[in-house]
Amino acid sequence: MQASLSLEEVTEAALDRSVYPSPPDLAMLFLREDDRLVLQGARPELLTLCRKEVQVSMGECLCGLALEAGKPVYSPDIHEDPRSTLTACKEWGMRSFAAMPLWGGEGVLGVLGLAWAAAQDVEAQANFLETSVGEIAMGLNNALLYRELQQHARELDRRVRERTEQLQVANKELEAFAYSISHDLRAPLRAVSGFAQIIARRHKAALNEEGRHYVDNIVLASERMAHLIDDLLTYSRLGRQALKLRALDLGKVVKQAIDNLTDRVEATGAIINLPGDWPTVFGDQTLLQQICTNLLDNALTYHQPGVVPELRLTWSMEDGQIILAIADNGIGIPPEYQEKIFNVFQRLHSDEDYPGTGIGLAIVKKSAIMLGGQVWVESEVGKGSTFYIKLPKE
Ligand code: ADP
Repeated sequence: MQASLSLEEVTEAALDRSVYPSPPDLAMLFLREDDRLVLQGARPELLTLCRKEVQVSMGECLCGLALEAGKPVYSPDIHEDPRSTLTACKEWGMRSFAAMPLWGGEGVLGVLGLAWAAAQDVEAQANFLETSVGEIAMGLNNALLYRELQQHARELDRRVRERTEQLQVANKELEAFAYSISHDLRAPLRAVSGFAQIIARRHKAALNEEGRHYVDNIVLASERMAHLIDDLLTYSRLGRQALKLRALDLGKVVKQAIDNLTDRVEATGAIINLPGDWPTVFGDQTLLQQICTNLLDNALTYHQPGVVPELRLTWSMEDGQIILAIADNGIGIPPEYQEKIFNVFQRLHSDEDYPGTGIGLAIVKKSAIMLGGQVWVESEVGKGSTFYIKLPKE
């Protein structure tokens, strides 16, 4: 019986399958609710039909007394017993009675009421009865604990869903905010950069060296800011665009991404190893393109000085999902940054050492999540990094 965790099955076993000294003519299983007992099930079954209405107060009749005392209450003949105050069992023709408390970890969980039509010395069977009932109590205890656990799990699930919804709303608001700010910043920035370029072009000769240095800095800084704003716009646009999900040839997407980076590949002399065959993945062409382009771009950017970048692309299947791996022989990423780099504006180098905005990997992560996938990195400083993207297959 202890193997079952369902309250219904434990009740059934207590009433139908338990071994009693002589099979009772009436069996009732009450569960404790505060200071009363509520009928959970009975045999014969007629009582079960009205089970919510059948309640016994603490101290009332034999079962209520067993609840109060936490000890069995035996009666050889309830018709002669002044403690037997309720009439139902007598009306059903019962005479001897055993009210057995069911003990659990935190006290009495309920009471099992067993009745026989014959008057008899039930207490003489006390040992046997208490052993059977101990087993039932253990099963009941497990079932109630399990029910509580399930209630907690449901509550937790409800709360997680509620929080997730709140987070999604907050996220959307933040995205809309980032989008409108970036959008509005473009016009004044264009003016700053435009005028700085005019000064640089037309009036440079009139400036002294210090003036020229400042103008050059303004031009560079405004170009960098324009890049940042463009990347931020791309990032915040991601959550706003509708996905066009379909089966895609991953090889075609990767090759297109490499084509987009032809200039970088040629400039670095990079070697790119590709697998012989490619799987089909389920995704959105634009997002997938963005993921591959950003990862390949980084693999070409963060190479060791004086070492030709060597990239190796492979793929594998896991749990019905495709994992694309992009490995490089670059500078690597210290372990403490391997998660942080996927956050917006998280960079590990100055713009002079390696140019960038720190948004590329945030775009990759967001795109992967939107496609129902995930992204992570394994890396060793001085040896290289491998970025993995898990994507649903068809
Ligand atoms: P960005 O490249 O514009 O700086 P990313 O979000 O693409 O922004 O990358 C964030 C940081 O992660 C980079 O600044 C770099 O320090 C590190 N990183 C990304 N890819 C690699 C790589 N393949 N090898 C080493 N470091 C990398």
